[in-house]
Amino acid sequence: MTEPQPSRLLRLRVAPAAERAVRAGHPWVYGDSIREQNREGQTGELGVIYDARDRFLAIGLFDADSPLRLRVLHAGKPVRLDLDWWRTRLQSAIERRRAWFDAETTGFRWIHGENDGWPGLVLDRYGDTLVLKLYTAAWLPLLTELTALIRDELAPQRLVFRVSRNAEVVARSTGLVDGHNLIGDSSDERVVFLENGLRFEAEVVRGQKTGFFLDQRENRQRLETFAAGADVLNVFSFSGGFSLYAARGGARSVTDLDISAHALAQARRNVALNQTHPRIAAARHEQVQADAFEWLAEAPPRQFDVVVLDPPSLAKREVERAEAIRAYERLAAHGLRWLRPGGLLLAASCSAHVSDGEFFQAVRGATRRSGRPFEEQMTTGHPSDHAATFAEAKYLKAIYLRFSRNSTR
Ligand code: SAH
Repeated sequence: MTEPQPSRLLRLRVAPAAERAVRAGHPWVYGDSIREQNREGQTGELGVIYDARDRFLAIGLFDADSPLRLRVLHAGKPVRLDLDWWRTRLQSAIERRRAWFDAETTGFRWIHGENDGWPGLVLDRYGDTLVLKLYTAAWLPLLTELTALIRDELAPQRLVFRVSRNAEVVARSTGLVDGHNLIGDSSDERVVFLENGLRFEAEVVRGQKTGFFLDQRENRQRLETFAAGADVLNVFSFSGGFSLYAARGGARSVTDLDISAHALAQARRNVALNQTHPRIAAARHEQVQADAFEWLAEAPPRQFDVVVLDPPSLAKREVERAEAIRAYERLAAHGLRWLRPGGLLLAASCSAHVSDGEFFQAVRGATRRSGRPFEEQMTTGHPSDHAATFAEAKYLKAIYLRFSRNSTR
């Protein structure tokens, strides 16, 4: 991709702590740790960090409008970010994943942002459709070349452009509208793909994230192995992912609970897409449209063998952390009243501002206070295609707790 003339190159020097962090592989440089800059930078240009002794330290994408001022693309020896360099970087993200998925799974993440060396950029696959989502406007100047590279390497029938709200206005000013195609001419809002042999819809044009919660695939798969004969309550069910795996695993009944009629309708369509599977066809499917916090707080009129709690992020900002931890405690405390003796609680969190330790403690604490004996089965983190390579990238965690059979309270 086009490189700047050396004389025009944006040069930065950063505070010692930031220098150490970059050297250690951290991908973010905040504006307030920049000590020197040879000129004003523009969003989307490359910036080079030089160390205290004037040696090349790293090169990254400059974002004038974000406190996260430089996203590191490469640190170490000086490199030329030419087309070959970009191609190699794309190929390495692709190659890593080829071994992880077979033809039964056509929905997964090709590029997971900084963790794959593509800071602020996500590329998800749903069958023949790819969705590219940008979390910073700094990628916009590179988009044409990037689209060509993706076409070369992955040959998608369709590439949908998605952009986070903070970068949407800038994107629009360059003619790029959220949900528009970069490749292909299909205008279908929904795309069907496979996850471990199950068929799901992704809402690629308007849906949250890139249209589906790909990151819960491994937890859904685990749930399938626990579901034989069970009555399953899937709280914050969205498009019914956990429910379908449970049904295939032999659940007697699955109940989706979500506040959104839209999500519940999508879950019904996903059930319909999988009717050819005898166990899915045999399971009883129920739905409840309600606020989960209120509904779970009621006295349970019936109980379940499995309760899944997978709420949306409850702490979008650091100041919301303490309140989010209390909300996780409340959810677990209420959720486990809906469990029969011997039942399984699967509680998940996707709040980056709540650490896995804090979350597990919250759920364990609520469970202990219930007075019912339980056994912790496992805790889980990120799936391989969403690997987190630095602390701030960690958001997903889940804990599995099994209640003792002879507890009667
Ligand atoms: N478990 C899902 C992902 C959950 S996303 C999966 O595997 O795909 C979070 C879901 O919570 C969304 O569908 C959203 O509509 C729902 N939601 C948000 N607030 C809610 C509330 N107060 N009560 C019930 N559902 C809620």
